[in-house]
Amino acid sequence: MVSITFDDGWIGQATFASPMLAERGWPGTFYLVPDWLGGEKSGEKFLTIEQAKQLIVAGHEIGNHTEHHQTLTRLKPRRMYKEMDLAQVHLSEWLSISRDSILSLASPHGTFDKRVLTNAKKLFESHRSGKTVLNTPDTDPFVLGAFLIENDNKRIRSPEWLGNLLQRAADERSWAVLVFHNIVDGPVRRGTSETLRDFERTLDQIQESGLEVVTVSEGVEGIHAGNTPADCAACSGADGSAQEGGGRHVAQRTRRSRRESLAKVDQRLLELFGKLRGRPNHTAAFTRHLVFEARELGFEFFPFLFGVELCQVHAHADLVTQLRQ
Ligand SMILES: [Zn+2]
Repeated sequence: MVSITFDDGWIGQATFASPMLAERGWPGTFYLVPDWLGGEKSGEKFLTIEQAKQLIVAGHEIGNHTEHHQTLTRLKPRRMYKEMDLAQVHLSEWLSISRDSILSLASPHGTFDKRVLTNAKKLFESHRSGKTVLNTPDTDPFVLGAFLIENDNKRIRSPEWLGNLLQRAADERSWAVLVFHNIVDGPVRRGTSETLRDFERTLDQIQESGLEVVTVSEGVEGIHAGNTPADCAACSGADGSAQEGGGRHVAQRTRRSRRESLAKVDQRLLELFGKLRGRPNHTAAFTRHLVFEARELGFEFFPFLFGVELCQVHAHADLVTQLRQ
């Protein structure tokens, strides 16, 4: 397995990375810093709240990178917890998602100690650390290893290095987590940024490796089930026996097929919206209709702006069928 993760919420993650992942049908994990959303630093912008919402629509995972991106180990206990908790509050409120759906923490600079982990365990299911190792079934989900892909690190930037890493992940059935920052079109201004060309080449290499691309929360489930989902005997029932971890894989598959069906629902809602367009008060009518139907059926509902005001319901495809009746 391989996970493609992004830190800090740089704008290129929304403008370039998300559509490039979507082209391949891959999910990413975006560790956001609420305090930075909509702002900029040294002339490079961060993504806006609306762009962050669109990452969710595209099926990506949103992770927590703390409220202000401070080095957690330097903070007093209460402040340390607050940095994680406040980011949960803001991300869930601003992006209209449940805070229970934000399962993954990445500590700023990957810096952690025992206290960081104790706090992280109260709020999350995993923590991505600064350890540069592949993850195995023995890996503590609160000390996940990851590899920072930096433009100014010539060794790590080389196709040979990545090729070897992916080969090892395939051979050992381990899980590689890659970390990116901004993706830029043109010359890079900071060492952590990645050019479009290099990012595309990285994605090509991942595709060639044949490894499954998963979000971090899917990876945590997958690796601890001891197998990659594609060839899990417990899920396929190949040996007919119920094995430990099988349930996790079923949940993981359910989540994946849910993501796929959500993408279809999004498409069908767009079509439905197209049909309603032009009728009097079409936007308001459409919104009311969807909110009502969604609530009746107990689904979550997210409003989004795509140039026109458009509501999207994260729900089962049946909902669309019902809407059309
Ligand atoms: Zn960061």
